[in-house]
Amino acid sequence: MFPDPYASPLGHVLLKLISETNGVTLANTLDLALRSMLVEERPEVAASLREFQELIYSYHRDPSDIRGLLAHEVAQTLGGIFRAFPLRFREEHIHLTGSLAADFVYPRLKALLEGPSRDLYEAKIREAYGEDALPINSEADVDRLLRLQDGMGFSRYLQVLTLAKLVLVDKQSHCDAAYHMAHRLYHNYNIGRVRLKFTFSRATKSAADALPGPEVEPEDVVLGLYEGFETFRREHADFDFVLSPSFRKESDFFDAERYENKGASFLHHAEEILALIAKYPFLRDKMTDVDTVGDERHHYRKAHFEEMRPGMRKLASRGFHIRSHHGETWSCLRRGVQAVDNAMNIWHIDTLEHGVSLGVNPNYYFHMVFERVMALNTKRLPVSRESPEFREIDDMDWRDRRDLLEKLVRGEALSADEIRNFITVKFHAAREVEHYQHDVLNRMINKNVSLVSLPTSNVKLTQNLATYKAHPFTWWEKKGVELGVGTDNDITLNSNFIRELLILLVTDADNLKITKLLMVVTGETRRPFMSDALWSARPDLQGNRAHA
Ligand SMILES: [Zn+2]
Repeated sequence: MFPDPYASPLGHVLLKLISETNGVTLANTLDLALRSMLVEERPEVAASLREFQELIYSYHRDPSDIRGLLAHEVAQTLGGIFRAFPLRFREEHIHLTGSLAADFVYPRLKALLEGPSRDLYEAKIREAYGEDALPINSEADVDRLLRLQDGMGFSRYLQVLTLAKLVLVDKQSHCDAAYHMAHRLYHNYNIGRVRLKFTFSRATKSAADALPGPEVEPEDVVLGLYEGFETFRREHADFDFVLSPSFRKESDFFDAERYENKGASFLHHAEEILALIAKYPFLRDKMTDVDTVGDERHHYRKAHFEEMRPGMRKLASRGFHIRSHHGETWSCLRRGVQAVDNAMNIWHIDTLEHGVSLGVNPNYYFHMVFERVMALNTKRLPVSRESPEFREIDDMDWRDRRDLLEKLVRGEALSADEIRNFITVKFHAAREVEHYQHDVLNRMINKNVSLVSLPTSNVKLTQNLATYKAHPFTWWEKKGVELGVGTDNDITLNSNFIRELLILLVTDADNLKITKLLMVVTGETRRPFMSDALWSARPDLQGNRAHA
C-alpha cells in the first residue's frame, strides 16, 4: 500500500513542488526539488531524492529490472500522491477474472472444494495449474495461483484465469465480484470509473476452456455485474462503470453443437445483448460497448474478421462502440499490424486495446531478430520452424535468395556475402513494416480511434517489448493518439493502476509531464481545472480536497 504523502516531509515537498510547477516531468521535478530551499532544510529528504534520481539514471543505462525503482521511497510517495489525488482515475481496461483478489476467491473456492463436485473441481485445478496446486488451504495458496509467475507466456496466462472463473457460479457471485472489485479499486487506487471486460458467454468446445459447475446464463452475468457496481455507485457518487462484454475471437471458439459457425454464434450473442437491453432498459447507459479478446496470432486476415462482421455491424447500428484487443500478440510483426488494420477497416473499431504492434520499433525489432538468428547460425545451429525468429524470417521477402532461409533453417553457416544479403532482406522488411505501421497509426489518428495502453500486460505477455522502457506510450502521446490506461488484470499480472502510472513516469522521466499523464488517466481535458486540482492537493489546502 502506498504511504500517505501528507504524513511525511518528503510527501509535503513533492506535493508542493508538483502543484507549484503545474506538473512538469519527473526528471525536472526531482531536479527542482534538489535545488529548492524546502529540501535544503531537510537533509534526509534530499538524500532520498538524490538516491532516487541516481536510480533513474542507472535504470536508463540498464532497464532490465524496474522493481528497485518502483519500490523506492520516492516512487512510493508519488504513488501515495496519486492515491490521494482529488480527481479519480479511469481504469479503461480490466478483466473480471484476472482482477478478483484472493480474499474474494478463497472462501468461495473452499465451499466448492468441500461440496459434492469436489473431484471435478480438483481435476480442473490440476489440469490448469499442475499437480502441486492442491491442496488449497488458505488465501495465500489462492493468491499464489492467481498471480502469473515470471516467465509465463500468453497461453499460460489464459489458464491462470481459471480459478476466478470457477467461483463465478451464478448471478449473486457476479454481483458480489463487481462490488468487491469496485470497493478495492476505489479505495486502494483512487479509481472513479471502471470499464469492465467480462465473458458474455462461456460456451466452448475446447476441453481446456470448459469448466465444471453450472453454466451461467449471460442474463445472470450481466445483471449480477450491474447490480454489484450499481450498489457501489449509489454509495459513492464519484464512481461509475461501463460493462464491456467480451468475446473470444478465435475461429474455433464457439459452441459447435448450437451454431453452424463462428459468425452465426457471434450474431446470436449480439442479438442476445440487444434483447437484454430491450428487457432491462437501465442497462442501456452502462453496457455501451463490446470487445474481442483471446489469442490473435491466427486472427489477422480479412477472412478472419469477416466472420464476426455481421454481429459487429448489428451492434454498431444500435449505437454500440466496438473495441478490440489487437496488436497484442502476433505470429510475425507485419501480421500484428495487419490485424489492427483489418479491425479498423472491417469492424470499424472505435478503440484499440493494446496495439503494441503499432509501437514496436521495426528497425530495432528486426535487427534483434537478425542478431538472434545469426547467433545460432555462427554456431551452425538450425533456426527451429516453431520459433518466433523463424516466423519473422519466413515472412521476409527473400526474392530469389530463399535458399539462404533454407540454410538458416538447416543450420548451415552463411558466407560473408550471404550475411550481407540477409541484412539487406532484413533492412527492407523493417522499412516495409515501419511504413505500414505509420500508415495505420495515422489513419487511427484521423479517425479518432483511441488506444488503451497496458504497460505491465504488454511487457509480461506480449514479450516483444524487451523492457518497460521500450513501451511506446509517450511516443503515441506525442504523435497525438488519444490514449487511455488500464491494468488488464491487476491481480493476475501482480500490478495495480497506480503502479502503471509510476511505470510510465519513471520510464520516461525526461519527456512525460505529470500533468499530461494525469489528464490522460482522469479523462479531464480542462487544463485550468487540472491545475486547480493539483493546487488543491497541497498540504496546506487539504481541507479543499474532494475526498480523503
Ligand atoms: Zn485485455
